[in-house]
Amino acid sequence: MPSKVDAAVKRFMEGVIQRNAGQSEFIQAVQEVAQSLMPFYLDHPDYVKAKILERMTEPDRIIIFRVTWEDDNGDVRADRAWRVQFNNSIGPYKGGLRFHPSVNLSVLKFLGFEQVFKNSLTGLPMGGAKGGANFDPKGKSDREVMRFCQSLMVELHRHIGEDTDVPAGDIGVGAREISYLFGQYKRMENRWTGMLTGKGLSFGGSLIRTEATGYGTVYFMQNMLEHRGDSMEGKVCTVSGSGNVAIYTIEKLTQLGAKAVTASDSGGFIYDPDGITPEKLEWIKDLKEVRRGRISEYADEFGCEYHAGKRPWVVPCDIAFPSATENEINGKEAEELVKNGCIGVAEGANMPSDLDAVKVYLKNKIMYGLGKAANAGGVAVSGLEQSQNALRISWSRDEVDGKLVEIMKNIHAKCVEYGNEGDWVNYVKGANIAGFVKVADAMMSYGVV
Ligand code: NDP
Repeated sequence: MPSKVDAAVKRFMEGVIQRNAGQSEFIQAVQEVAQSLMPFYLDHPDYVKAKILERMTEPDRIIIFRVTWEDDNGDVRADRAWRVQFNNSIGPYKGGLRFHPSVNLSVLKFLGFEQVFKNSLTGLPMGGAKGGANFDPKGKSDREVMRFCQSLMVELHRHIGEDTDVPAGDIGVGAREISYLFGQYKRMENRWTGMLTGKGLSFGGSLIRTEATGYGTVYFMQNMLEHRGDSMEGKVCTVSGSGNVAIYTIEKLTQLGAKAVTASDSGGFIYDPDGITPEKLEWIKDLKEVRRGRISEYADEFGCEYHAGKRPWVVPCDIAFPSATENEINGKEAEELVKNGCIGVAEGANMPSDLDAVKVYLKNKIMYGLGKAANAGGVAVSGLEQSQNALRISWSRDEVDGKLVEIMKNIHAKCVEYGNEGDWVNYVKGANIAGFVKVADAMMSYGVV
């Protein structure tokens, strides 16, 4: 006989699955929240009566449009772009843009849904959104990327603005893309305004924004360790990805006395048991940000192992930092991590662990910092970039880093407040309830809207 909670989750999920047929990533993200939130939700009949959870799983609106552009050969290309404006109850929509061939509505709805909770956890006034296109920047010239970004902004500019919706970067959207997008918006609107974050330092960007997601994820893990009387010192860490989040995760790990031994891209992973030193990391930054090469070249350069087509979770480690993409750790890989002595996982990426992997972490009571809490440092510093733009000032590196440290500490404290289960902290429960309450209370205040 299923419990009252199980029955409520089943009933709720049947509706979600029916309304979002085939959207597996979105359904997965909602399932994770529903499972951990439902006991709290049922204890609050006002929320249930107002159908807050049903309303929070339906985006405010979705914009879909064609992006037509011309490649270097003069051939016409047509891609598809989206902006999912999920929930603006506690502030203007905020969330990144992703350019990757795998982008579809399900992926963007899962990312937008998680963003609502994440932005709430930061304590800053930001609603949740996500967007992007199925355009693949890989192998494209700078001029092709520029033409694509300009064409995309011709439509997107109608839907965004500093008080409406403020996009940022994500997979495939870094400093180069944000610059082209910002330049086109400014040209069309004849206004300089902070309607995008992740901007270059010479035109309104914030110090530490580039580093914020990776640094913040490590700060979150540091908080979890300190809560147990432990520290980052001497920890052996596996990291996936070699993009923005992975690079600055590795940088902060070495600064705190830990050792990162892996990095990856969609081709495979490198294993460097001596650790990725600051000098080697500078080499990776040049490889990925300037030369736009493959991580396999690291193995040739520094003489270590490269495992083509594999993921790094077979390497023994104390702590894992998945920092590439969604569903990159399955249940079997999670079992392998735990068996090899892994005591914690902090997610730089969004939903990198599938539902089976999460079950393994919770069953073994390891420290599990889920993405919406652990990687919230990126959007938090984006929020600080918005504040600096609005005030027409620039804070110093130390000031922004200090605020980031404080925000990650506060997020950790909120997770402990709602997720404390006596002998351990269930961060999934803690983050989902803490993120939910603020948005739900705002929605309750607005009445039926
Ligand atoms: P980047 O584009 O800078 O880097 C992505 C990295 O992940 C690359 O190494 C890429 O390899 C790898 N990757 C991407 N897709 C796949 C795939 N399907 N299989 C294997 N490897 C893959 O992106 P970011 O570092 O910005 O983002 C990484 C993750 O962090 C994403 O989940 C993102 O949503 C999340 N995140 C990012 C934030 C930010 O501020 N940038 C904020 C919060 C979360 P390759 O080059 O071969 O594709």
